[in-house]
Amino acid sequence: MRLSVLSSGSSGNATYIESVEGGLLVDAGLPCRRIESLLAHIGRSLDDIGAVLVTHGHADHTSGVRSLVRERGVEVFAAPGAGERLGATRVPPEEAFEVCGLSATFFEVPHDSLTYGLRLSDGERDVAMATDLGEAGPEVLRRMRGADTVVLEANHDPVWLRGGPYSARLKRRISSRDGHLSNRQAAEAALALAPHGLKDLVLAHLSKTNNSPARACGTVHKALREAGHGTIRVRAAIAGHPTPWVEVGTPLEIPEYLYRYAVEGRQLFEIE
Ligand SMILES: [Zn+2]
Ligand SMILES: [Zn+2]
Repeated sequence: MRLSVLSSGSSGNATYIESVEGGLLVDAGLPCRRIESLLAHIGRSLDDIGAVLVTHGHADHTSGVRSLVRERGVEVFAAPGAGERLGATRVPPEEAFEVCGLSATFFEVPHDSLTYGLRLSDGERDVAMATDLGEAGPEVLRRMRGADTVVLEANHDPVWLRGGPYSARLKRRISSRDGHLSNRQAAEAALALAPHGLKDLVLAHLSKTNNSPARACGTVHKALREAGHGTIRVRAAIAGHPTPWVEVGTPLEIPEYLYRYAVEGRQLFEIE
């Protein structure tokens, strides 16, 4: 199993995951043509998508779903309250269903709309994802524990949010239990998951205003390193640039991970 977060953030979210049997998208919050061009960056096309799994109804996760269905006839899966308007096949949360050769399970997370995280397994390796959530409490962590790869929200730096340009009301909403996860909360969740086989952590849904990839990766990686988990590979998903492929379950070998993120030869940031 391998994955690439194609694009992430309030401008649109989509993650491509594939098994030996085929590929699927988790969320499709960008126009179909945009998804097509992002897939081309990782050597894939719309023909490779067999299904879309929708985490919740916000437009940054769903705006491209209808055109994918219309143009490609892909099947859409969602838990109750997340995809009825999209004509999704309804799957109950906490129950595994088979899709594109993988076993998938939705679990509820706190957000200001009925929202689900997702666990996917090929029978040997697991991926857990939660990209819109205000809190990663014990129930959420329990469902993500043991995954080899975790895609987790790191929306904002709390200090940047507090001092930033948003209205007091929006700041309250973002930092509430039904809002979005901060870098610090993501670091705490990473520390809880680290001893249970976590190898790759992709930080997602970063705010362009109140965060940066270097800030998010730096905060989380520092916490992991200080707790003796410095070999876990931490990277950030950003808007409009697919992450390099994450091969799920690749062993932790490199003694200390140095992360370089380059797009077409241009280095975007680096953490040590
Ligand atoms: Zn979102
Ligand atoms: Zn949302």
